[in-house]
Amino acid sequence: MLKLEGVHTYYGAIQALDDVSVEVNQGEIVTLIGANGAGKTTLLMTVCGSPRAKQGRILFEGEDITNKQTHHIMRSGIAISPEGRRVFPDLTVAENLKMGGFFANREEIERGIDHVYSLFPRLKERANQRAGTMSGGEQQMLAIGRALMTKPRLLLLDEPTLGLAPLIIAQIFDIIRTVRDEGITVFLVEQNANKALQVADRGYVLENGKVVMADTGANLLANSDIRKAYLGG
Ligand code: ATP
Repeated sequence: MLKLEGVHTYYGAIQALDDVSVEVNQGEIVTLIGANGAGKTTLLMTVCGSPRAKQGRILFEGEDITNKQTHHIMRSGIAISPEGRRVFPDLTVAENLKMGGFFANREEIERGIDHVYSLFPRLKERANQRAGTMSGGEQQMLAIGRALMTKPRLLLLDEPTLGLAPLIIAQIFDIIRTVRDEGITVFLVEQNANKALQVADRGYVLENGKVVMADTGANLLANSDIRKAYLGG
């Protein structure tokens, strides 16, 4: 479904991705783990076309999207919930969701909002609350909900559990499973390698912009090098 072939990405002279090849198949949850600064966010953003890959190819459902504009990519069936959950703090929950459905008609937006509320009853309860006054976990649900408003076939999630309490983290992982069960493929970037590998079908390990390991979630969880480096021994 998504294929990166030998992708190189730079910020000026700094190389952030070095010959990265990654594949996400339809119906999978695939996770990308790695330390701070490994290039995880850069990889997701490169898929979205900003920054652009300087070398290599990115294919989505067979179409070469490497040099497409971000807005084109966002309309092609890919959505992202970015790091830091950037919701619009002064808008209500319902208004944030409407913004997420920006290129749909009114009926589709209503249906989209109903769908998001069915996944996140908490957001329905808080429909008229300003997003900036919600808890971190609620804002994260809203960020995921907003991404789902475009009815993506592939959902990119950047650190959805960062800074959240364990109970909320468990809820977010439940939601990720539910989203996948609804037929949406998930590409998940996580610092929380333990939880991410438990939920993922497959995982990639990124170090200094390079993929250094790729395997099933279960095998990576059981791997002693991975346990030492990313799972606290
Ligand atoms: P984290 O978990 O800390 O978010 P990450 O794995 O997502 O880390 P990236 O944010 O992709 O890593 O960063 C990869 C490298 O690129 C880092 O060395 C970072 O300093 C650099 N980098 C990221 N964004 C920029 C930018 N806008 N300009 C210059 N360098 C950048």
